[in-house]
Order: sequence, then structure tokens, then C-alpha cells
Amino acid sequence: MSEQLIMNPHRTLAISTDSILSCSPTSRNGFHIAIVCALPIEADAIIAAFGIYWEDHGLLYDKAYGDPNAYSTGVIGRHNVVVAHMPSMGKASAASVAVNLRLSFPKIELVLVAGTCGCSPKTSEGDEIILGDVIISTGVVQYDLGHRMPEGFKSKKKILDSLGRPNTELRSIVNKIQGIRGRKKLRNNIAECLAQFQGVPELEAEYPGIEEDRLFQAEYCHRIDGKSCKECGCDGEKLIPRVRLNTNHQVVEHFGLIASGDTVLMSGRDRDILTQEENVIGFEMEGAGVWDNYPCVVIKGACDYADSHKNEKWRRYAAATSAACVKAFLNSWVPGNSESRILSGPEVGPSSAVIFDGNQEILHQRSQPRFTNTPQEILEPNNTLRDPEIFGEMKHVKGLKLIR
Ligand SMILES: [Zn+2]
Repeated sequence: MSEQLIMNPHRTLAISTDSILSCSPTSRNGFHIAIVCALPIEADAIIAAFGIYWEDHGLLYDKAYGDPNAYSTGVIGRHNVVVAHMPSMGKASAASVAVNLRLSFPKIELVLVAGTCGCSPKTSEGDEIILGDVIISTGVVQYDLGHRMPEGFKSKKKILDSLGRPNTELRSIVNKIQGIRGRKKLRNNIAECLAQFQGVPELEAEYPGIEEDRLFQAEYCHRIDGKSCKECGCDGEKLIPRVRLNTNHQVVEHFGLIASGDTVLMSGRDRDILTQEENVIGFEMEGAGVWDNYPCVVIKGACDYADSHKNEKWRRYAAATSAACVKAFLNSWVPGNSESRILSGPEVGPSSAVIFDGNQEILHQRSQPRFTNTPQEILEPNNTLRDPEIFGEMKHVKGLKLIR
């Protein structure tokens, strides 16, 4: 039986190829979670969170005839996931990807829209949002849906009505994560995963620096298009002081409404109106395209303040914080028929039930005396997997060996 070291900072296991293959879904029906990304750098960050990349093991799940989407398949935490790569930004493109996704992966139950977004400087509760923070949707609104009147554009009066609420299951899990324990766990998981990303030079996921996080007064416009604020001399006296930048800029998650539209919002004034009137805290272009097709959560890293001073300096860092939060979110995600697909048991417990995710889970288990030897021991308490379609029989999942 051959062994190989999987080259990923998340993975520190030597896993036999046979063992990996025995855990793979037997068909595209074995995938229940999809992640939609608009930009390649956003997908790069998500794929960096893979514990297993199925293509690396010769498993090409292909796609249905007529489906134009491009996919990557792998494992994040304890879930098989498929990443749908969008051909371009915007909600029409996202809607098309979502519709075609169903052709190839008909059993998808949850879609996460990941990547980057603009953000409000503050939540409706007055909490500061700084660049790199993560916005998690409690609802998505189409802010560009409304009426073009002679006197100007009027959005729908009740913007919440433009798209439906998340389903009961999603609302429940999001509410759970918003609790004290849920937030603490999520925040710790994000920090841990982000640190791992920052060990991958290609991701360029380093924090850009507090001096690059510049929030201008809403009415103050960028001076010259195509040039950076520094190049065109945007007035530093118009900057609004941010408290968190001087204390702790650890990534913080914010739950709230996300405004989704086909235009890039680059107006501090419009941003503030939407925030004040509709409690919107994030601005992006894909969520609305997916929302009506699937149970959906938008998880995006803030890379600008949705004003005219926006630039690309924060894109990669925000993509990384989004991906870290996606992984953290999936750690908390328990599908309705979880018994059929989760490797858990009374002695292992759901939070440490992941087999292949190397660093994060297995090393945690190493710190516990009864898990100090091989993962076979970890697998003993629950060595029957209930759904062979998803991972194969658990009894085949042998041969894992820690290499440090
Ligand atoms: Zn500027």
C-alpha cells in the first residue's frame, strides 16, 4: 500500500492513497455542499482550506452534459465540497452558475457564497467593522431592485421583501453561531485557519497593515480615478479615526444583511443611507443570484468601504479571511441527516470527528492521551460509517499514520 505526504500546510499526515480513495464519494451525488466564488483569488483561498483535493488523487467527477460550470472537488473539515468557479462577477453570472450546478450536483443542500465585499464602517449596533472582518449574511437584499422614476431611482420600500428569508435550518445554525460560545469558537477557528493560510506564500494573505485601512468621511470623494489615494493626495484630514485599528485588528465576524446588486457600490453616501435605513452591512454582487436557488449563506471578507477610495490592496487578505470563516462555519454545520455522512461517535465527538484534515483536528487529538498513537485508534470508537456512498465503509479507512 503506497503512502504519500499530502503537500498542504493543513495536512501533516501520511495517508495511504488507498485509504483516501476508499473515502471518496462514489459519484457527484455524494456532494451536498457547494461554494461559489466569483474571482480566482477567492477560489484559491477556499481550495487552500481543502484537506483533500480529489483531483490530486485522480478522481475527476466531471459534470453533466450541458453544464458549462467549472468545478473543484475536495474535503473541508468533515464535508465533501464542490467549488463552483464563476466565469465573471455579478448576480446574473451567479444565478447561471447556481442553476447549472444542479445539473451536475443534484444533491446540493447548502451553497456558501464566498469571497470579498464592501462593508459599512459600523453595524447598526455601532460596532466598528474594519477591513478584513467577515460579514455573514442573515439575509440578502437586492438594493438595485426598484423603480426608475423621473426624479430618480427608488428602491423597493421594504427592501427585505426583495428576497426571502433563509430557511429554518439555516436561521437556526446562524443563530447558534451568534451565541457567545458559537462566536468564540468561530473566531478562534478563523484565526487558526488564517494563520495557516499566511504560511502559504502564493496566497499573499498577510495583513496589509493598519495604515492601509483608511476610512474617509462619506461625502469626501476620491480625487483622481485610476490613481491611489496616496498618488492623488486624498486628504488625510478627512479620515475617520478607527478605534479597533489602535487596539486589536483580529478578524471579527459580523452577522447582518448583505446588499447584492449588479453595480459596484462606490459611494460612501449611498452606503450610509443603506446602512441606516436597511441595516445593511455588506455590499457585493453574487449573493442575490444564488439566494433564490438554494439554501444559502454569504460569507465575505471586507476589502473596502464601498466608497470611491476603494482599491485592491485588501483583496487577497479579505479572500483569505472569507475562506477561513467558510471553514469555521462548516465546522459548525451539521446537515439534517448527519448520521449518514459524519464521522462522529460518543468518544470522538462532532468537533473532533474529522479524519483527514490533518493539522487542525488530528493534532488536537494528539494532545489527548488516548489519541497519542495512530488515527486508527481514533477511528475505533466509531468504525462504522453509515453512508458508504459518501465516504465508503469506515472499516476501509485504515492506514492513516501521523508523521510527527
Ligand atoms: Zn482616495
